[in-house]
Amino acid sequence: MTFHREETVRIPESDLEGMSLDTLAVRAGQLRTGQLEHSDAIFPTSSFVYGSAAQAAARFGGEESGNIYSRFTNPTVQAFEGRIAAMEGGERAVATASGMAAILSTCIALLKGGDHVVCSRGVFGTTNVLFQKYMAKFGVETTFVSLTDTREWASAVRPETRMLFIETPSNPLCEVADMAALASLAHNNNALFVVDNCFCTPVLQRPLEHGADIVIHSATKYLDGQGRCVGGVVVGPEKLMEEVYGFLRSAGPTMSPFNAWVFHKGLETLPIRMRAHCDNALELATWLEQQPEVERVYYAGLESHPQHALAKSQQKGFGGVLSFCLKGGREEAWKFIDATRMISITANLGDVKTTITHPATTTHGRLSPEDKSRAGITENLIRLSVGIEAIEDLKTDLYRGLQVLQNASNT
Ligand SMILES: *Cc1c(COP(=O)(O)O)cnc(C)c1O
Repeated sequence: MTFHREETVRIPESDLEGMSLDTLAVRAGQLRTGQLEHSDAIFPTSSFVYGSAAQAAARFGGEESGNIYSRFTNPTVQAFEGRIAAMEGGERAVATASGMAAILSTCIALLKGGDHVVCSRGVFGTTNVLFQKYMAKFGVETTFVSLTDTREWASAVRPETRMLFIETPSNPLCEVADMAALASLAHNNNALFVVDNCFCTPVLQRPLEHGADIVIHSATKYLDGQGRCVGGVVVGPEKLMEEVYGFLRSAGPTMSPFNAWVFHKGLETLPIRMRAHCDNALELATWLEQQPEVERVYYAGLESHPQHALAKSQQKGFGGVLSFCLKGGREEAWKFIDATRMISITANLGDVKTTITHPATTTHGRLSPEDKSRAGITENLIRLSVGIEAIEDLKTDLYRGLQVLQNASNT
């Protein structure tokens, strides 16, 4: 077997052809040095040495491929890139210092002043700031539209529109976009269709198969899954990724080898983690929907969800994030949150540990009251990022919140 050799080799891509995602998660992008280590080695080095002055010249001149400097390429970063590209079904991945660096690099590399972007309204708060404040400074204007209203998308498109950008399902209300419809709208207008796939990961949804040109991740969330590192990645066709890579190499928001190693190892357990997240979230959503203190539950896995059928057709599972409205307002929501003991009160998501947050005063706190109400971020809304703890223990902890509300209404 070619992969078992006493020199540094990469697992041949042809060996992985036709393999399922569960296998790609542990086998794709593998690199093995002459030590024949089974777990992937890590290369925490800023630069690389050459055998001779002539080789150095050939590397710099581009006549010989190979590592020069870790802002350009690093074997650990390339291992992670190879694995996530295989899992998303894309030609190439480019790893970045954070999810935001992935979005920024994609925009700077592929847009120019005068271009126009149409973006869904419910995107990650900082993505909103990036488009509204910073991209606007360089002449890229953005129109925000409803994720689910295809007609609103169509009427927002202008001759200078070059990008459609979404997250699906949305945070925190789990709205689902029709990716095939948006892809054809983008392509009929000579624009790129970009999907932030942070919530589903390739395990549950592969946007490139639904017509997306580019997939973006905050690797910080499910790809790591254990809250250790900040990172991001962009996946797409070689031609576009070469542009993103070119910007990254020049501007510098690249991924560190240590973080790449953590993400690379994180991907190995992604399929089984995502299944556990989905199972727990569906069970909790169904349970919460039956509680008298709960006004409504937002989770695409529920039959009551308006885009349940669409989610079912695009996704292999409904993800680990759900939200719900309690009967009452901010006071009830905060009381509920404070009554939990095990679940972490934090805005982070995608962790094996369940987290609980009050979007109106944290993740979406910067929105104006009008924007909040348009986005459905009410004072009685709570978001859960459901982890992989035992379902009974999660119910016990959430029941503490329900009990506090019951006691309050009895006195
Ligand atoms: C967290 C997040 C980001 C930003 O990622 P960072 O790694 O924090 O920079 C982008 N999009 C979504 C959907 C996110 O949840």
